[in-house]
Amino acid sequence: MDAAYQAKRFSDIVRALRYAQQLASHERWSRDAILRHQQKRLSALVRHAVAGSEFYRELYHGLDVENRIVLAELPIIDKPMVMANFDRLVTDRRLKLADLTAHLNGLVRDSYYLDEYRVLATAGTSGFRGVFVFDRRVWGIELANALRWHRLMGITPRLFPRQKISAIGADSPVHVSARLTASGNVGLFRLQLLEATMPIEALVAALNAFQPEALLSYSSLAAILAEEQRAGRLSVAPRVISTHSELLTEEMARKIERAWGIKPFNHYGLTELSTFGAECERHCGMHMLDDLFIAEVVDNAYRPVEPGQVGQRLLLTNLYNFAQPLIRYEVSDMLALAPEPCLCGRPFPLISSISGRAEEVVRLAARDGREIAVSPLVFSAAIEVLDGVAAFQLSSKADVICVRAVPGNGADRAALPSRITAQLADRLNSLGARPLRIEVELVAALERISGRMGKVKLVQTDTKSRTE
Ligand SMILES: [Zn+2]
Repeated sequence: MDAAYQAKRFSDIVRALRYAQQLASHERWSRDAILRHQQKRLSALVRHAVAGSEFYRELYHGLDVENRIVLAELPIIDKPMVMANFDRLVTDRRLKLADLTAHLNGLVRDSYYLDEYRVLATAGTSGFRGVFVFDRRVWGIELANALRWHRLMGITPRLFPRQKISAIGADSPVHVSARLTASGNVGLFRLQLLEATMPIEALVAALNAFQPEALLSYSSLAAILAEEQRAGRLSVAPRVISTHSELLTEEMARKIERAWGIKPFNHYGLTELSTFGAECERHCGMHMLDDLFIAEVVDNAYRPVEPGQVGQRLLLTNLYNFAQPLIRYEVSDMLALAPEPCLCGRPFPLISSISGRAEEVVRLAARDGREIAVSPLVFSAAIEVLDGVAAFQLSSKADVICVRAVPGNGADRAALPSRITAQLADRLNSLGARPLRIEVELVAALERISGRMGKVKLVQTDTKSRTE
């Protein structure tokens, strides 16, 4: 039984390595070839969805699927719709949300559902839990895409000795980062798996003992570990550092570079599609790896925004997952695409900025009676850059902003709260905000909630977003 399970997982990895070669060949395609490929996959996906999903059959009623499909003419869907219509949306009638939820509740390792599917759940950082299924073929593509992310950073499987990678991430196979690592853990690398919810001292001790060549970590934790390295408690010399799952602010990247002398590779993923963006060796921003999906960057009225402009929403079409089609599926991440391609010549556009999720934007009353929207990056630029701040979290409610700050090494703790207050008040004032109360609390560590994969939410607001 167990041998059969291991053999199956191994054959999944072999398949993934084959897909990874195909994906590598896409890097030499022209942009036009990528666009043609997208359109071909889109047509196949829409036809499959209409044939196999009652939900899409109704939603696309009257649509001529035999002719050219124009993505922008298709209706937009979101996570609440996907979850409310789960059993009618999937194209395999055997998949029922109630059964999948029961499977998730008992999940302990990289198990299959119906011998075929991997089932994942979102952390619910946007307040709404999502459940997503991947058949073995699509999971192979997800794994191949993770291998492509590794390759972009210069990490390729090597024998004698195998590369040592420390991966700090989620603590449950329900979540995508932990699950991909589990599926990929068949001996290609020497992996050290660490949980983001572990105390910092325990992480430091484990890393010191293992001495990884590559460190893959949540962004906020990588920045905290950089401080530990500078203080001499952590002493590791990774060749590659990649940050993922959380917003990487400029200050976090600077801390990492100061500690190890190397620039971190940023990564952006979703449960629905685990590697959406990844940085190449040029570090000019993340490439949007859109041979596997189509992304539309849109404003609040769902109109496309030009490259260089930050969109309020992202519409994602996963071109490969035919079991659970997600077509023009709304995600609340706000990103901007760069107007120019990367100098490396790959045909994938660059993401010039990611400013966090729409629900992380704090809306404040302005002095002129209007409202201003303040993104997490603005708070980071005001607070995180202060000498003596190792990390911070912030929540806003009515007219009060509460900052939880972790003091850095040698920080003047007595003076820190008033310095943070003054700096933040000054920044908000310059943006035109009406004066408001700012409270600062010094804490030993940030809140990492294991039910949320141990992720830190930089900014919490009391406003409800559309997806909640
Ligand atoms: Zn590049």
